[in-house]
Amino acid sequence: MELEFYGATGGVTGSCHIIRNGEYQILIDCGLIQGRRKEEEANREPFPFDLDKIDAVVLSHAHIDHSGRTPLLVKRGFRGPIYTQNATRDLCAVLLRDSASLAERDAKYQNKKRAKKGLEPIESLYTEADAIKAWEHMEGMPYREKRQILPGISIRYQDAGHILGACMVEIWLTEGSVTRKIVFSGDIGQYDTPILNDPTTIEEADLVLMESTYGNRLHRDRQQTIEEIGEVISRAGAEHGNILIPAFSIGRSQELLYLMGTNYDEWGLDRWQIFLDSPMAIEASHIYWDYPHLYDEEATKLRSQINEMPHLRNLKLTHAVEESMQINEIRSGAIIIAGSGMCNGGRIIHHLKHNITRRECHVMIVGYQANGTLGRRLVNREKEVKIHGEFYDVNAQIHTVGGLSAHADQNELLQWAGGFINKPKVFVVHGDPEVKQEFSQLLHEKLQLVASVPKAGDIVDLSQI
Ligand SMILES: [Zn+2]
Ligand SMILES: [Zn+2]
Repeated sequence: MELEFYGATGGVTGSCHIIRNGEYQILIDCGLIQGRRKEEEANREPFPFDLDKIDAVVLSHAHIDHSGRTPLLVKRGFRGPIYTQNATRDLCAVLLRDSASLAERDAKYQNKKRAKKGLEPIESLYTEADAIKAWEHMEGMPYREKRQILPGISIRYQDAGHILGACMVEIWLTEGSVTRKIVFSGDIGQYDTPILNDPTTIEEADLVLMESTYGNRLHRDRQQTIEEIGEVISRAGAEHGNILIPAFSIGRSQELLYLMGTNYDEWGLDRWQIFLDSPMAIEASHIYWDYPHLYDEEATKLRSQINEMPHLRNLKLTHAVEESMQINEIRSGAIIIAGSGMCNGGRIIHHLKHNITRRECHVMIVGYQANGTLGRRLVNREKEVKIHGEFYDVNAQIHTVGGLSAHADQNELLQWAGGFINKPKVFVVHGDPEVKQEFSQLLHEKLQLVASVPKAGDIVDLSQI
């Protein structure tokens, strides 16, 4: 029995690990590598394992950096089951189709450039048909149910509190008289986050694979964050402007709507029109709505009092492009939640064009902005930005609200790791290289755990741990 590290060891994205037990092999996650074009080219390379020998895939959650290469697996011939939590399966239907359409558009764009240089066209990484096929291979499971998926291999999903359906995976391997238990953390959520339960404490494991995205950072206090959002709303109201919120469709948008619902009076929202201007976020919101049994206590209580979606009186869900364009006519009193989360595409771009030169308008940044994106330029307070080839003065007021992360911070990661009673060995994955090193050191100092940072291609003999 062995474990081989493959993706999310170099950086954050492309989560993928292989477990071999007897004659069976499973993949844990099969995520897309995301980043600069050069890095993303790695997605096109052949898998460094024999696809025919993979018997099953076990997914932790729907985010593309964990699930985004499953359509590629299927395109290249994988025919086995892909296990996921039930809600993850539903969210994957939305996310994988979107990922496919981005890949198809990207191939088209690249082929235009290639044609000019006389180069052969490239194929789209995968198509919507591949995404649908991958989704058809997905087998949903509930939380907390142990299931044997192959001879000698059983799994159980536990709530990770990160996005709806996100899991930590407990994996039991048995070969002859040897049994080992491995825990894969997936992405770990924050404690006391809106809607979702806290990350599940797991007390026993022989080996833990643990994410470390924010292993070097502390998030701002939640109450302070709520006050910050309230202040932006009241200022924008006094100045008669609009508020734009670039937000990721899955997780962040639902969290914002929920916070608006629970702080409705404090934030004076009855004076505003609120728009969820993203077909994907609308679809994801319906999925969130359909899984009330996965909510935490507070959200369950709220959900039991309201039977209809949307739960905000003045929320408009705008599907059609024409409806979205009509929002551009509104000069004040609109809160517009639209994607993409980093302003590198999507409907938010059009709203920025119409509002960014106006001093009375406000842009609320609620998520991580990668280098090179328009969102990052706004966060950096650039005075002028280029949108669709034209320059716009940034007169609108930019606010960075830092407390809404879907990831546990350093203290919360330590809290989760501290839940293991039997002091298992820990491999730190899914983080920037220096963060993984720092966090691995911290696990040793604070919790006396033996922790290390694996490289892609490292193999661990599980019978020896
Ligand atoms: Zn995630
Ligand atoms: Zn992730």
